[in-house]
Amino acid sequence: LGNYIDSIIEKIEELKRRRRAVILAHNYQIPEVQEVADFVGDSLELSRKAMECSADVIVFAGVSFMAEMAAALNPDKIVLHPVPEAGCPLANFLPPSKLREYKESAPRAPIVVYVNSLASTKAEADYVVTSASAPKLISRLEDEVVIFGPDKNLADYVAELTQKEIVVAPPYGHCPVHEYLLNEYYVRKSLYEYPNAILIAHPETPKQVRRMAKFVGSTSQMIKAVENFRNVDTLVIATEEGLVYRARKLYPDKNIVPANPLAVCIDMKKITLRSILRALELGKHRVSLDSAIAKRVRETIERSLELLK
Ligand code: SF4
Repeated sequence: LGNYIDSIIEKIEELKRRRRAVILAHNYQIPEVQEVADFVGDSLELSRKAMECSADVIVFAGVSFMAEMAAALNPDKIVLHPVPEAGCPLANFLPPSKLREYKESAPRAPIVVYVNSLASTKAEADYVVTSASAPKLISRLEDEVVIFGPDKNLADYVAELTQKEIVVAPPYGHCPVHEYLLNEYYVRKSLYEYPNAILIAHPETPKQVRRMAKFVGSTSQMIKAVENFRNVDTLVIATEEGLVYRARKLYPDKNIVPANPLAVCIDMKKITLRSILRALELGKHRVSLDSAIAKRVRETIERSLELLK
């Protein structure tokens, strides 16, 4: 198996050089994909990398909304998504037609969408945020009522931190991994097994879990938190299990435990070394966004970055 994997990696490396390509991988990708990637990070970091790099081709190892965002921000580069069916069930909760209904019901309220949304939805929004930037951006808005979607748990977290009235679009939007596989039951069970551990949680987890956490933040902030809790030996991580691999690699001296090892995003795990190799060999699947939508996504992002300055 070792030789087989090594030969795939060799071919990937060779094609990368030949096509002037880079591989960007999300923190939730399987270990061997993280290893073959040129850069691993959260969706915002990956978008930034996509813009900074001088490569002609970007192979995006993540889910489709991330590849779409890379394509919107890099109209002159070829963005390949190895498995186009790797979507995000959370993003699918808020198609643009539904967002328009909220817009019509409260035409004066600003519309803020989480980065985990479709490009066509971002194009309809006023602002786009990550879980890290959401509290800051929303607290800077003058309006008291804000429409926010599609994650109800992140909306709840933001409402707690900003004192704004958040209309959640839709009120049932959630990430199934964080909502069901990282609920209070699993997290309590893991803390029972590791009584001296501290809990670090993602804001997509339910409120009861966030209440138990010593730190709540995006995947990148969670990685930094592992470093910052210097005197703590054992940390329980309440997010998709792929982050544990990254955290263990960066901090081998710490005991880093997943709150639930079965908290697996099957969409993230659809990307494999073989699918990356195929993407590079065949130049597939190229992410092609409607140019008008891509332009509006860029405008939404620029407006958001301006407010965050
Ligand atoms: S972990 Fe949840 S939010 Fe992230 S891609 Fe998977 S389904 Fe979407």
